[in-house]
Amino acid sequence: MSAKKLLLSEEELPKQWYNIQADLPKPLPPMIHPETKEPVKLPPVLFAGECLKQEDSTDRWITIPEAVRDAYRLWRPTPLYRATQLENALKTPAKIYYKYEGVSPPGSHKPNTAIAQAYYAKQEGVERLTTETGAGQWGSALAFSCNHFGLDTTVYMVKASYFQKPYRRVLMEAFGAEVFPSPSPRTQAGKAILETDAHCSGSLGIAISEAVEDALTNEGTKYSIGSVANHVLLHQTVIGLEIQKQLAQIDEYPDLVTGCIGGGSSFSGMYWPFYYDTVSGKAPKEVAFLAVESTAAPSVTMGPYIYDHGDTARITPLIKMNTLGHMFIPPPIHAGGLRYHGMAPTLCLLKDEGVLDARAYNQVESFEAAMLFARTEGILPAPEPAHAIKAVIDEALKCKHTGEEKTLLFLLCGHGHFDMQAYDDFIGSKLPPYEYPREKVDESLQQLKELYPWLSISQDKRDAAARVTPAQTTQHQPPSDAS
Ligand SMILES: *Cc1c(COP(=O)(O)O)cnc(C)c1O
Repeated sequence: MSAKKLLLSEEELPKQWYNIQADLPKPLPPMIHPETKEPVKLPPVLFAGECLKQEDSTDRWITIPEAVRDAYRLWRPTPLYRATQLENALKTPAKIYYKYEGVSPPGSHKPNTAIAQAYYAKQEGVERLTTETGAGQWGSALAFSCNHFGLDTTVYMVKASYFQKPYRRVLMEAFGAEVFPSPSPRTQAGKAILETDAHCSGSLGIAISEAVEDALTNEGTKYSIGSVANHVLLHQTVIGLEIQKQLAQIDEYPDLVTGCIGGGSSFSGMYWPFYYDTVSGKAPKEVAFLAVESTAAPSVTMGPYIYDHGDTARITPLIKMNTLGHMFIPPPIHAGGLRYHGMAPTLCLLKDEGVLDARAYNQVESFEAAMLFARTEGILPAPEPAHAIKAVIDEALKCKHTGEEKTLLFLLCGHGHFDMQAYDDFIGSKLPPYEYPREKVDESLQQLKELYPWLSISQDKRDAAARVTPAQTTQHQPPSDAS
């Protein structure tokens, strides 16, 4: 049986999220305090209590509150499409499916967690949530969600995006949020950066510092994060859980599950339930997981798996992840969601364990893929999932050569209707194929080493092998399959 568009009824909306922490091959290394060098948890003053509980939970299934499911119903379940026109254009024997999250009010997967976080904050008496945003997708998702539950929202938006992508700012303001370009003079962190570089175009790392500081220094205010954290990834699993039901309708199962990674939340939301199938013996066949990033911010394909801060001002604890160094200031590529220096710790652990693969593409080849997709499937993708589309096209072309009839699944995590400037630049051949230089990674790792000489000794006491340290990895990078 074949189908173009697979839908689910509202009743089939998942009732629980799947938590991968119940099934990891080994526990996540703890976060480390940079001064005491002791394991630490996320500060309770910063996050809603329920989110903190979920952050460390090893319960396999976590109930989705009815109010959250009710909000989800505004746009969920989302459709799963078969990309028949794209298959035809590629003349591939592969079957290509994509889950489309662009049907949400802000146009991406991000409200899957924003709704949950706003709900828990409201339940706990919080009045305002602060956050950072890059391209504005997370900010608009949080603004939408806070508005839904009656909370105020303050968004620190990376300055480059604030001016390059004004329409998402307008969307946030339409949902009632206040938005500031970051670095801003509203916080100590922002002021410090502006003193050394008045024209700093900002980064997610800097904006995180500002949003965190705002939450820590103001009553009734908590911070909300759009990716990387375990509880965020957990909330995104509605994506993969729905896909499983949709594919079951036509007796299909993927050989490949792929998606783009900025902080890793949308891709994790898709692959976690398939990972569960694999570890629980429920998967009817072997499935490969492929995370796709940008060559402009190649955290997983170029950055070593070490301890680093999650933000530029070093407010967060040290987190074990693949990192380009917290001083990383990314080039202003259009895929704003892929410009973070670090990556979700669960994803990094599974990459290190060989459970999943990563690959990087530049923005020019990604936009070429996006154009082909728009012209065949009729949906203009956001620049971020364009990277996953490039990967799926490459895999489909491989199948053409081998004759394999693989089933390929990717996540179209957002539409590109607010990214018209990016498409205009691409069509006008104004986009450079930016590749982040390895020397710059080495440089920032050297800085990290000087900052924390003791980090060259693995702080993960449960990881006796202590394989990856800054000292080793600066010299011997594992070969990446980045093209
Ligand atoms: C935020 C965003 C990303 C990157 O974040 P992840 O946590 O890796 O999903 C990718 N695509 C879109 C459309 C986004 O909004």
